[in-house]
Amino acid sequence: MNKSKSKLYSLTDPKHWIAPTIRLHGGGLNKFGAARHHLTTEKIDGVPVAELVSRFGSPLFVISEKRLRENARRLKRAFATRWPQVINAWSYKTNYLGAVCNTLHQEGYWAEVVSAFEYEKARLLGVPGNRIIFNGPCKLRAALRQAAEEGARIHLDSLDELYLLEEVARELGKIVPVAMRLNFDTGYTDPWSRFGFNLETGQALDCARRIGASSHLRLAGLHTHLGTFVTDTRAYAAAVRILTAFMDTVEEQTGTVIEYLDLGGGFASKNAMQGVYLPPEQLVPSAEQYAEAVCDALMAGTREREARGLTRPTLILETGRAVVDDAVSLVASVVANKRLPDGRRGTVLDAGVNLMFTAFWYNHDVRPVRRPDGIAEETVLYGPMCMNIDVMRQSIQIPPLSVGDLLVFNPVGAYNNTQWLQFIEYRPNVAMVLENGKVEVVRVREDLAVVIGQERLPPSLSLPFPEERDANV
Ligand SMILES: *Cc1c(COP(=O)(O)O)cnc(C)c1O
Repeated sequence: MNKSKSKLYSLTDPKHWIAPTIRLHGGGLNKFGAARHHLTTEKIDGVPVAELVSRFGSPLFVISEKRLRENARRLKRAFATRWPQVINAWSYKTNYLGAVCNTLHQEGYWAEVVSAFEYEKARLLGVPGNRIIFNGPCKLRAALRQAAEEGARIHLDSLDELYLLEEVARELGKIVPVAMRLNFDTGYTDPWSRFGFNLETGQALDCARRIGASSHLRLAGLHTHLGTFVTDTRAYAAAVRILTAFMDTVEEQTGTVIEYLDLGGGFASKNAMQGVYLPPEQLVPSAEQYAEAVCDALMAGTREREARGLTRPTLILETGRAVVDDAVSLVASVVANKRLPDGRRGTVLDAGVNLMFTAFWYNHDVRPVRRPDGIAEETVLYGPMCMNIDVMRQSIQIPPLSVGDLLVFNPVGAYNNTQWLQFIEYRPNVAMVLENGKVEVVRVREDLAVVIGQERLPPSLSLPFPEERDANV
């Protein structure tokens, strides 16, 4: 065994040794879908990727303004054509780069925020308080006070928050309209029961009665957010049935009129969840399919209410990943190649899970900018971290790549530009290809000054080797 192996190596330059390959016919459609290894991404919105990298460096995030607006409009239209009153909101935590948020605000999206920081950011961008939806389990007094003063829609997460807001409202001498976040089992997703008030146990109804009895709070809406990457539209239809039934009960028992139902986010993007068999093109519903499921159920669930002389409630959506994900790509360069002991190829890139956190859950589509020569073989794509977990793709069939070759990952717009880490490496430039054809940096690459800017060195720790300084004196 060893002998033949060493013989093989001695016959060829070990540095350039390439494993013998069995040629199978590839490229056709098989039970795993279409082969993808011949696909390339040469340009983003008409701009050559190689040109982007020569101008802005590698790695590089690239946002397509055109795609972002198209996605936003398509989702908006899908619901607006099926329901009379719809408010679309943009989930800040999914991607709160100012350029992304303002593109979506220009498309008519409100801001959906889940912390005081996100609230501040929305206000700084110019979003008025009365177009902010304030969710989240940790809203403290100062933030609640500002939100109540500025007319934001506050969605209660717990009884303690209710008591706190009631106090704040009393101080302000106001009646503050609120919504309750609800959790329940639709039968299609795992309930996220840690958020809001549980419906099945009666907790939600108790809370609604409590708000009904309050002289400083008024129940104006019901909210739920089922989860994220929910690919079954029946989950939303079930959520609407449950919410509309609960709305009827609450109105009957407390005399309040519910103005809006907020279905949260969670629509899936065209990304491939790890361990899921079907490719995203087949698995992920379209905006129209989500809209149809939601609006059909809403129509059915509010028919009787209309007969009672009440208007149909406004529908609010807080969409994140489905709007932004495929509008952002991550360009990375090949740094090195190696052969793993099990025979697979290992390729090291300059972008890792520090920048693409979602690599832990998704098999992102990745395409070379130029079609590489050679036969596709199983390859692991590693990031630049000195960390074993830094894997961008566990397994991909791709021809051998050379040092300096560029790869484009997509979709990466959801949860990466917010969950990325300044860890081991600086975070790179984020560029946006604008609709007018220009390319602008919308977040500048970090440098040492940025990273250490928040640090303070106590005087006694100002030198690394103080004894040497003493010796020099
Ligand atoms: C994260 C979040 C959203 C957005 O979820 P997506 O899955 O990205 O669409 C909406 N609403 C709330 C309350 C959230 O926490």
